[in-house]
Amino acid sequence: MFVLRASLYSTAMPRRIALTGGWETGHIMVKSDIYSFREADYPLLVSIPHNGFAIPEEVSATMTEVGKSSRDTDWFLDRLYDFDVTNDAGMIASHYSRYVVDLNRDANAPSNQSLYPGQNTTGLFPKITFDQSPIYLAGKEPDADERSRRIERFWHPYHDQLNSELKRMRAKFGIAVLFEAHSIESELPFLFEGVLPDLNFGTNTGKSCSESMADAIKSTLPDAGYSHVFNGRFVGGFITRHYANPTDRIHSIQLELSQATYMDQSTKNWLPNKAAAVQPVLRSVILAIRGWIDKQKK
Ligand SMILES: [Zn+2]
Repeated sequence: MFVLRASLYSTAMPRRIALTGGWETGHIMVKSDIYSFREADYPLLVSIPHNGFAIPEEVSATMTEVGKSSRDTDWFLDRLYDFDVTNDAGMIASHYSRYVVDLNRDANAPSNQSLYPGQNTTGLFPKITFDQSPIYLAGKEPDADERSRRIERFWHPYHDQLNSELKRMRAKFGIAVLFEAHSIESELPFLFEGVLPDLNFGTNTGKSCSESMADAIKSTLPDAGYSHVFNGRFVGGFITRHYANPTDRIHSIQLELSQATYMDQSTKNWLPNKAAAVQPVLRSVILAIRGWIDKQKK
C-alpha cells in the first residue's frame, strides 16, 4: 500500500507550487509556473485542472477576500491520487485557481455558452463562487484585454501540454486514457439539490469512452460505504468532452468526487482517516481502468 506523505497543506493559504513530492520521482517532470506535468510511461494520464489555488498578485488585488481564498478548489487531489497504481501514469495538475481562468471551460466558445445548459454553473471567468459570493471587488471584474491575457498565460499552456501528451501516448501505446480528477463540496444548492453522491462519474453520457471501460469501473465499485452515479449532475466538463475520441482509441472519464469523502469541508483540511478509507476505492477505479487498457493492448 501507499504511504501518505506529510501534508504541505496545513492551511488553505495559496501556494505557488501545489504538489506533493511523490509524483516527482522516476519520470520526466516539468514544472512550469502554470502546472506540474509528468510524462506517462503507461497509457493513462491523470489531469487535475482545478488542483491549484494560487492567484497572481495583480489578480488578487481585484478580488474579494472570498475570491482570494479560492474556496472552490479541488483540494488535495494530487495527493489523493498519488499511489502505487498511478506510479507510471502521466499527470498534469494546475497551480493556479479556477478563479483566475477555469481550465475546464472552453476558451474558444462564445461567452454566453454554458457547459451545462439549463442548469446553474460558473464560466471561463467565474464572477461568483459556488455559494454565490462575489469573487471580484465592485467594478474590478476582468475586461476583454485581461481575459485574453489570462487565456494566453494560463489556459493555453495547460491545454497545449495535455493535448500533446495525449497525442504522444496514443502514438506510443496505441491507446490513451484521460482520467479527469475533480472534487467538489457535497452540498451546493446553487449547483444541485440535496447531497451529492460520493463518486460522480461522467462519460459525456457514454460518448467519451468505450462502454466496456465504464462497465469495468462499475463492476469494481463497492456495494456499500460509498454511493456512486454515472452521468448524473456531472457528465464530464470541457476537458472530458473535448479530448475524447473513442473511435481513435482516445478515451476519457471524469470523476467528480465529493469532498465529504476525504476532507473537512468547512476548514478545508485533509482528514487522514477519511482519505485513507476512500483511497482504496479510488485505487480500485484506477485498477479497473488499467485492467481494461491492458485488454485493449492485446
Ligand atoms: Zn473540478
